[in-house]
Amino acid sequence: MKPTNLKTDEFTTSKGNIVKVNFIKHASLFFEINNYVIHVDPVSEFADFSVFPKADLILLTHDHYDHYDANAVKAVLTEKTAVVCSAEVETALKALDITNSVNVLKNGETTEISIPAVEFSILAVPAYNTTQTQFHPKGRDNGYVLTIDDIKFYIPGDCEDMPELAEHQDYDVVFLPVNQPYTMTIDQCVNAVQMMQPKVFYPIHCGDTDMNVLMDRLKDITGTEVRLCDM
Ligand code: ZN
Ligand code: ZN
Repeated sequence: MKPTNLKTDEFTTSKGNIVKVNFIKHASLFFEINNYVIHVDPVSEFADFSVFPKADLILLTHDHYDHYDANAVKAVLTEKTAVVCSAEVETALKALDITNSVNVLKNGETTEISIPAVEFSILAVPAYNTTQTQFHPKGRDNGYVLTIDDIKFYIPGDCEDMPELAEHQDYDVVFLPVNQPYTMTIDQCVNAVQMMQPKVFYPIHCGDTDMNVLMDRLKDITGTEVRLCDM
């Protein structure tokens, strides 16, 4: 389990809002936009979520144990917390017997959520396996594009180097999962980064991936800064 002094990176939007990204482990991270807190795929196996700030919004990509964990959701939930998730996760949430606002998005659907002094929208994007590994069938799970003022963040869910990634070029910050058989091989990750050409790329959900090999393969991609975050 990780200590509570997390790696945090900051990004400043054109309106002067500061977006902090706090890296927990695997696919669990949380954003702080001024005092607004967004938890993504919180899972208790990776940290004690009772010590983290409560969520104004929880984003859930899919109902696998390493992304959806009822105890972690409950640990950061307040009665005001909004939830954005896939239809399958909504079904799982019903077991929690909560009265929170739950916004189910299909791939391609968007929603806007009000944050004071910030322009904020969420687009649900596909997240699926393209090879013989069919842990994530097309259309079931979500990734999310967060647009915070002028900054775009790509949250992938579990996916391989889907052709749809090419529709999300030149983003500021892209996270991608790198551990086959569930997500990308190193080759697929390199291909995905070349397709997307983000300003900053963080490999996440890395499992036993050899990070030295990954970093060596990514070093020749120009225009993208690769940052490690121990995920
Ligand atoms: Zn999964
Ligand atoms: Zn996963």
